[in-house]
Amino acid sequence: MRLPFYCPIKDDEHLLSWFMRYHILSGRRTIASSLGVLGVSRSRLKSYDFNAAFLAVSKFYRSDFDKSFAVTEHSPLALWSLSHGSSYFSAWKLNEESSLKSVFEPNKLGILTGWSYCRHCAEEDRESNGFSYWHTEHQVPGTVLCQKHNQRLVVDRQGLTDINNVSLPHSCVNADGGRIEGWMFEWNDFVLHVFHILKRNSDAADKLTMQVPEILGLSPFKRLSDNDSLQTHQERFDEELPAELLKYLFKFYCQSFKRQPMVLRSTLGYKVYEKGKHPVYWLAILYWLRHQIDWSVAS
Ligand SMILES: [Zn+2]
Repeated sequence: MRLPFYCPIKDDEHLLSWFMRYHILSGRRTIASSLGVLGVSRSRLKSYDFNAAFLAVSKFYRSDFDKSFAVTEHSPLALWSLSHGSSYFSAWKLNEESSLKSVFEPNKLGILTGWSYCRHCAEEDRESNGFSYWHTEHQVPGTVLCQKHNQRLVVDRQGLTDINNVSLPHSCVNADGGRIEGWMFEWNDFVLHVFHILKRNSDAADKLTMQVPEILGLSPFKRLSDNDSLQTHQERFDEELPAELLKYLFKFYCQSFKRQPMVLRSTLGYKVYEKGKHPVYWLAILYWLRHQIDWSVAS
């Protein structure tokens, strides 16, 4: 399908942001009608829900605009190679038809799921392009700051909650992103650093995660005898990471503990029924062990 207008995707623009702009320029009344053209029935456009709409837009972009288009360049998806493992993730990139879960646990995760933006980027983008757009980096789960401006990201909690709405950052109510705290800088740099490593090379996910049990001296066979040592490590994890970071990432750190959190146990695969944890679990663990991890294997 040829577009009757010029609408290239911008550097660091999220794929669905491009689709929102495409929809606005198409002049169609509802997002449902634009999605309908791609063969998708009503769907919400979330920044990291790999649903039918996300996949259809990716296919549409690749077949009509750029055959070498990589969705991992224009979404936070590369981070999910931590959740699913490098080989599964590489296979998925070759065949997007296989399922890929976003493994989101809304009752456990504290991070917000709305679209995020930086007010300064929105202003700059509007100055230079005439419009603002949703940046991929700002949607990477765990990020709190705009890397370019060192400002808190603002999460749009209203604009895109209605299934019929599309919006761009400059139309959002200019809410305050909240206070900047000391722990945010190193953490934010770390999250984006890992994201860019995985974007370049999804094999890096296994090379990083496989070091964790080794560093912690756990058996490669996930034995029951690891229980005591897992608990000791979990206590260290809880003490050594900034409390504010843990509260920001996980809801259970905001509540008084009924029992010890089990971030390590569940992420390292000691719970048989939990397959694939959301990448922020891995990010928190890798950040905790950042000085012991051999990063050279991932480059
Ligand atoms: Zn910015």
